[in-house]
Amino acid sequence: MTDAETALRQAVIDTCLEMNASGINQGTSGNVSARWQDGLLVTPSGIPYAELEPEDIVFMRFGGDFKAKQGLKPSSEWRFHVDIMADRPDVQAIVHTHSLYATTIAIKGLDIPAVHYMIAAAGGPTIRCAPYATFGTAELSAHAVTALADRHACILRHHGVIACGANLKRALWLAGEVETLAKQFHLSLMLGDPCILPDDEIARVVAKFGTYGPKSKPE
Ligand code: 13P
Ligand code: ZN
Repeated sequence: MTDAETALRQAVIDTCLEMNASGINQGTSGNVSARWQDGLLVTPSGIPYAELEPEDIVFMRFGGDFKAKQGLKPSSEWRFHVDIMADRPDVQAIVHTHSLYATTIAIKGLDIPAVHYMIAAAGGPTIRCAPYATFGTAELSAHAVTALADRHACILRHHGVIACGANLKRALWLAGEVETLAKQFHLSLMLGDPCILPDDEIARVVAKFGTYGPKSKPE
């Protein structure tokens, strides 16, 4: 294994640890992937993140064959990781969480509307809610790909969040922003009918954002 591959595998693990430490995911719910060669590196199914080592991360080709350490299987959601990356050349990393408020909105089957201008981080005036399908199925994957059209994030009915990015840091950041937006939507619903920003304003913010988001401090 090259140093670059080991580093990316470690970055997948670090993303999982940060995802749980930040409170946007719990236990072995959720999963993380990063594009690599003719496929992607994805977390193994059901293994506590604190136990993961770089060689435990599974290499999955776009064709569906995979290389996993003995006894480990790729995430049960490998299909949507593969299908999203195959459909979207802009996506280099995917973070899937079961964060509390976003999942609560998804239980109601609602799209998250433009209650705050930060919705532009997800690429448009809504974060769509994909219809329910059993976890790990091709049906769920197809719903996710559709809900992500022109967007970097979606929520999954009775399930959770998918956030995509040009790298792992951005995908994790966006997963956190989706949770904040869902919380703001939930709280504003409790005060009555929330006011929603118009589509043309969100289009302006999307254009203004450009590459806005977390980045390293200049040297
Ligand atoms: P895995 O542990 O198989 O990745 O499953 C977690 C999950 O979120 C399923 O939707
Ligand atoms: Zn899940």
